[in-house]
Amino acid sequence: MPGKIHILKAELANKIAAGEVVQRPASVVKELLENSLDANATKITVIVKEAGKAFIQVIDNGEGMSPDDALTAFQRHATSKIATAEDLEAIRTLGFRGEALASIAAVSQVEMKTRQASDETGFQLRIEGNVLKEQSNVAMERGTVVVVKNLFYNTPARRNFLKTRTTELKNISDVVTRTAIAYPGVTWDYVSDDEDLLDLKPKAADGRLKDLFGDRLVESLVNVHEAGDYLTIDGYIGRPNFARKSRAEQFLFINRRFVVNRAINHAVFQAYEHLLDKGTFPFFILNLTLDPHKVDVNVHPSKMEVKFENESIIYRFVLSTVRRALASNDGIPALSMQADATSGRTDERLRFSQSPSVGAAPSETEVVGRTPPFTFPPGEGLDQVDLEKLFGKIERRLGTETLRKDGEATFPADLQRVTPPSSDRLLQHRPMRAPGEKEPGQEGRAIWQIHNKYILSQVRTGLLIVDQHVAHERILYEQVLANFENNLPTTQQLLFPQTVQLTASDYSLVKELVPHLEKIGFDLKMFGKNTVVIEGIPADVRVGSEAEILQNVLDEFKQTEQKGTIDARDKLAKSFACKAAIKAGDRLTTVEMIVLIDQLFATQMPYVCPHGRPIVVKITTEELDRRFGRT
Ligand code: ADP
Ligand code: MG
Repeated sequence: MPGKIHILKAELANKIAAGEVVQRPASVVKELLENSLDANATKITVIVKEAGKAFIQVIDNGEGMSPDDALTAFQRHATSKIATAEDLEAIRTLGFRGEALASIAAVSQVEMKTRQASDETGFQLRIEGNVLKEQSNVAMERGTVVVVKNLFYNTPARRNFLKTRTTELKNISDVVTRTAIAYPGVTWDYVSDDEDLLDLKPKAADGRLKDLFGDRLVESLVNVHEAGDYLTIDGYIGRPNFARKSRAEQFLFINRRFVVNRAINHAVFQAYEHLLDKGTFPFFILNLTLDPHKVDVNVHPSKMEVKFENESIIYRFVLSTVRRALASNDGIPALSMQADATSGRTDERLRFSQSPSVGAAPSETEVVGRTPPFTFPPGEGLDQVDLEKLFGKIERRLGTETLRKDGEATFPADLQRVTPPSSDRLLQHRPMRAPGEKEPGQEGRAIWQIHNKYILSQVRTGLLIVDQHVAHERILYEQVLANFENNLPTTQQLLFPQTVQLTASDYSLVKELVPHLEKIGFDLKMFGKNTVVIEGIPADVRVGSEAEILQNVLDEFKQTEQKGTIDARDKLAKSFACKAAIKAGDRLTTVEMIVLIDQLFATQMPYVCPHGRPIVVKITTEELDRRFGRT
């Protein structure tokens, strides 16, 4: 009796396999473009008709093939790109699986013309449903032309499955665009139903982007370049105010191969932290260059997925690179005073900007402009702050390093080199000045506190407004996270340990959190019977309020717990930062303000607090000029 298992005929097997490689016209285009690029073409033309369903043609000026190779190329698993298992470990070409041409030929009518430079003539062939129908010599230039007609003519299910013409054409255009981004040195021509959609001359990367996206968009992007031992990142990211409603404009390339990778997307997204409104996504174009041994592209036949040998290294590198690029390129949302009723955030700033205290600000700004900035009266300990360094740093983070170049806003010589403060801890500059002492800002300094809530400071490009509470929150938050990493809490031991009576549930919560709390700088003894003795507190906590802060941190922790934050340490860091930070209403001395701003701009993300509120608002001089009719 014959068995019931049999091997499928090659033709059928190819059809089945084709399903994975060739899902739609755009996949054909992608595979053909990859072949042209692997053949080192410098000019590639794509012509489609009826969104590729009727006709796809790719013409290249690459290396071409010999007649024998041209015939072999349509066999399943026929490739010139890898030979051994070791080769598979380090893929350096876009193709390597040797199945694209076989798959395409299984589900369409294919014609190919090809010629190597060393051959007298070219060679052409016609294949239908994997069967060779015709072959002959042909006169042609070096290169290869592939024509794919009537895609899925023999797989009606597939054909019916295709989306509308618009959708399929968009998919093709996406493929061409991505490839053109990754290969700016190649000339591209892309024609759909006799309409020239792209005609791109070879350019440098930024020139290519301008051709594709327009000058204005590209000029608003932030350039990213970071070379590390493990990988190098190049590309562009959009400023937060340029966020998009979809992920469509996120281009990630690994060794110039367009890929989709959730982890890296997440890393980029994370770098923007709370700079983005809900439901918006950053624009980015990033190419990661890394040793091909360290990335596996043989995950799926479409080669759009990758697996990294060490994903976390890459994740962290992307995160920190993008973060730094954002922070150093004026990621501050500049305040436009044009009413924008759609955004609650802007609204709040608007109200602020219209309050009487700011109404008076411009004249003060004028005064400041003529006075040497930061001439402090003696006795406030200011000789201990390196002002030049501080404001150099802020201007750098604002991307306006021109501070000293034009000779206008330079610091007086006697202030240029001063010794650093004995301690950089903000709260150690307390207590506050004696009652009756002059308000800062009134002697024409370029830093003021208003309503004991906001710090105003002049920077080269305008006016900076900092919310003191969230600024300090950000500083503490990052300090705590650093403590978690480095194990270096700074504890101040209490002269008189505090005994705190907690509820049973808080007591067990503290017990659970003790290892983390210790890393923040708390020194706690679990006394039993729901009693905790606080023997030491973090260096930033005001002595006298330790019990209150511990209780507040616990409460805040429980609250954020309900909001479902996952990481306990992060939650704790946020809770602590929020509760230990200086509050709105706390009066600050000039030194405290300067130290605060200094520390703020030393953080990784000076613009948004851990809970997502903005820390800094900038009003540019242009905006002020515009408002005062000076333009
Ligand atoms: P792969 O690209 O994975 O090797 P393909 O089926 O796409 O598999 O192509 C098979 C082979 O045909 C390639 O390895 C290459 O040698 C040759 N080939 C395909 N397209 C071209 C082209 N445009 N120019 C030169 N050679 C080509
Ligand atoms: Mg290929």
